[in-house]
Amino acid sequence: MATAKKLTIAVDGYSSSGKSTMARRLAAATGYRYIDSGAMYRAVTLYALEHGLFDADGQPDVEALAAALPHLKIDFSPAGDDGRQHTLLNGCDVEHDIRTLRVSEHVSPVAAVPEVRHALVAMQQALGQEGGIVMDGRDIGTTVFPHADLKIFVNASARTRAERRFAEMQAEGSQVDFEEVLANVMQRDHIDETRTESPLRRASDAIDLDNSHMTPEQQDAWLMEKFREAEQKI
Ligand code: C5P
Repeated sequence: MATAKKLTIAVDGYSSSGKSTMARRLAAATGYRYIDSGAMYRAVTLYALEHGLFDADGQPDVEALAAALPHLKIDFSPAGDDGRQHTLLNGCDVEHDIRTLRVSEHVSPVAAVPEVRHALVAMQQALGQEGGIVMDGRDIGTTVFPHADLKIFVNASARTRAERRFAEMQAEGSQVDFEEVLANVMQRDHIDETRTESPLRRASDAIDLDNSHMTPEQQDAWLMEKFREAEQKI
C-alpha cells in the first residue's frame, strides 16, 4: 500500500496572532513535526543579550553576531510534561528565557540581520526536508518553503493580539504592563513588515484567516478542514 505523502505546511502571520497554537495543535493531531521558527530568532536574540551584543539603542552588533552564528546550535526537545517542546540553545533549555518581554523587545532587529536570516532559513529548510512538518513564522510560505502544500496567513487586530500576549504572560507569572505589550506588538509588526530581507508578507497563494473572533477550537476545525483539502490535492 502506498504511504500517503506528507505535506509541508506553512503558517505565517503577525506577532501573537495565535498561529503557533494552531500550528502546534495541527501537528499533534496529524502526527507531523511542529517547528516554531520564531523561537529560533528568539534564541539567537537571547544569546546576543547574554553576550552584550547590543548597543545602547538596542541595535545588534552585526559583525559579532555573524561571527557567533556558526557556534550556535538550536534544537527542540521532545514535548515535555507541559505538552510543549522546549527550545534548546547549545544544549540548554531556554524555553522560558526566550519568551520574556526583554527578548521580545530585541528580537525584531536581530531577525532583520541578513546573516541571521540566511543561517536560520537554512536550518529551517533542513528540518523540513522530509515533509510532514508544520512550521510557523513570518516568511515560511514566501522564503523557507515557497512550494509548501498548504500556506495559511493569520491575522487579528493589534489590540486583540496584545490582549492574548498579555494574558499569556500574566499566566506565566510575568509582571507586565498592557500598554507596553501593545507597543511591542505594534513595533515588531512594523520592523517585520519593513525590513529588507524577507519581510513579513502574505504569500500570494496563502489562505487568509482572521481569527479575531474565533475560539481555539473553531480555529483547529478550520485548519483541519484546510489540511484535509490539501491532502486531497497531492
Ligand atoms: O513568532 P514570534 O513572535 O515568537 O517571533 C519572534 C520574532 O522573530 C518576530 O517578531 C519576528 O521579528 C521574528 N521572526 C521572523 N521570521 C520568522 C519567525 C519570527 O523574522 N520566520
